[in-house]
Amino acid sequence: HLYNMIQELRGNIRVFCRIRPAFNMEAKSSIDYTGKDGSLIVVDPTNPQSTRKSFHFNKIFGPDASQDEVYKDTQPLIRSVMDGYNVCIFAYGQTGSGKTHTMCGPSSGLSKNVGVNYMALSDLFQISSAREGINTLEIKNCSANGGLNVPDASMRSVQSVDDVLTLMKLGEKNRIFCSTAMNNRSSRSHSVLTVHILGEDMTRCKIRSCLHLVDLAGSERVDKSEVTGDRLKEAQHINKSLSCLGDVITALAQKNSHIPYRNSKLTQLLQNSLGGRAKVLMFAHVSPEADSYGETLSTLKFAQRVS
Ligand code: ADP
Ligand code: MG
Repeated sequence: HLYNMIQELRGNIRVFCRIRPAFNMEAKSSIDYTGKDGSLIVVDPTNPQSTRKSFHFNKIFGPDASQDEVYKDTQPLIRSVMDGYNVCIFAYGQTGSGKTHTMCGPSSGLSKNVGVNYMALSDLFQISSAREGINTLEIKNCSANGGLNVPDASMRSVQSVDDVLTLMKLGEKNRIFCSTAMNNRSSRSHSVLTVHILGEDMTRCKIRSCLHLVDLAGSERVDKSEVTGDRLKEAQHINKSLSCLGDVITALAQKNSHIPYRNSKLTQLLQNSLGGRAKVLMFAHVSPEADSYGETLSTLKFAQRVS
């Protein structure tokens, strides 16, 4: 509760940046990472003498940060769902920057190093079993929310983390993968895992809250993917929905009177969990490699804008 009070004073939006380890240790890095004071410096690898750009975030996780460390700073937010807060967690960044790693875990699919999704669900089940009154924990695989129709979405009741994992695997299977020049496993879609909580809080007040865990589609610019036709349209659509999300979060951060939820389906879907008392966390993912410099810069600018 104290955490919630402090957070309310701080505002409802926070941004954590996570830097993926380099795949090629010898390659030049575009990020000068200190991590000490929540700031990060980006260097143009083609012109190291040019002005360095520095960025500030609520938290920066360097390449060595473990899944547990990342979760430790996310956990209070997850727990506040059980006090009746709506929470949205987003993973943003170009394809290959580590979004799915943070949310789900390593691509190898081993049960080691599980991500935020798994740890969050375990936490919620643990809290609910220790508390009377919470008996329903529902999971939606994308949803019909506030009358917004999401085709083929379904809502399932779940009893355990394993139930959730089984559903997540099904969701992942259904997610369309298509090859692009960026990454032949690039998934050009958002993945939304929504958990509804119905029950009572510590003071036996009725609560009805939800947690959205969102693995966003890669934010890389369209031209880089060298796609055409339907794929190009799809890519443009994704970029538009990401920029709409950015507009909404920026408007919330600035406490504007008009929040442009209606400009994309994603923000319409999440509307109830973005404004008001809802808490939002954006993970900005960046790749350290020099050839990702342009995308890294645009991810950091995006993240800086919403924070
Ligand atoms: P994205 O979902 O953004 O496209 P992935 O999460 O699939 O990116 O990450 C790309 C690759 O890098 C995967 O093989 C993933 O396991 C690995 N990876 C990403 N972040 C980390 C990390 N923090 N530590 C170790 N490996 C990582
Ligand atoms: Mg991914």
